[in-house]
Amino acid sequence: MYRVRLWSVRRSRQMEWLYNTFNPLVVKLLRGVVKVFGTRLDKPITAVEAAAKGFFFDCKMCGDCALSKTGMSCPMNCPKTIRNGPCGGVRENGMCEVKPEMRCVWVAAWDGASRMEHGDAIKDVNFALDHRLKGKSSWLKLARDD
Ligand code: SF4
Repeated sequence: MYRVRLWSVRRSRQMEWLYNTFNPLVVKLLRGVVKVFGTRLDKPITAVEAAAKGFFFDCKMCGDCALSKTGMSCPMNCPKTIRNGPCGGVRENGMCEVKPEMRCVWVAAWDGASRMEHGDAIKDVNFALDHRLKGKSSWLKLARDD
């Protein structure tokens, strides 16, 4: 949901705190789950991730989450799916050239990153996305140390 996505970017610092606090616990828990159940719980875990991140970030389940490096603005909402943005087409008012009714994902990302403690991570270059991961869980990827 677009409005919630913008809300999450405005609260990027609190989101970062939540991520830093709970991510190690979730990954630890999932490591245990993976050890015991193998791949049998992948589907429900992936569904929970898709629902939670879909609500807050309009997550597209790319399988390699970049939120902590993009000011909590999901780069996969860029119509060009640019992961090292922005492109040269951002409008003067900060809106997207492809979807003029949408704030440029990367303008939002810089805004979100400016509020984050580790917002400098936005300057890191992201590798090209491995599209074979599409639809897979980033949480499980972390848990399995892929
Ligand atoms: S970067 Fe990928 S996993 Fe993270 S919110 Fe965006 S689509 Fe979802």
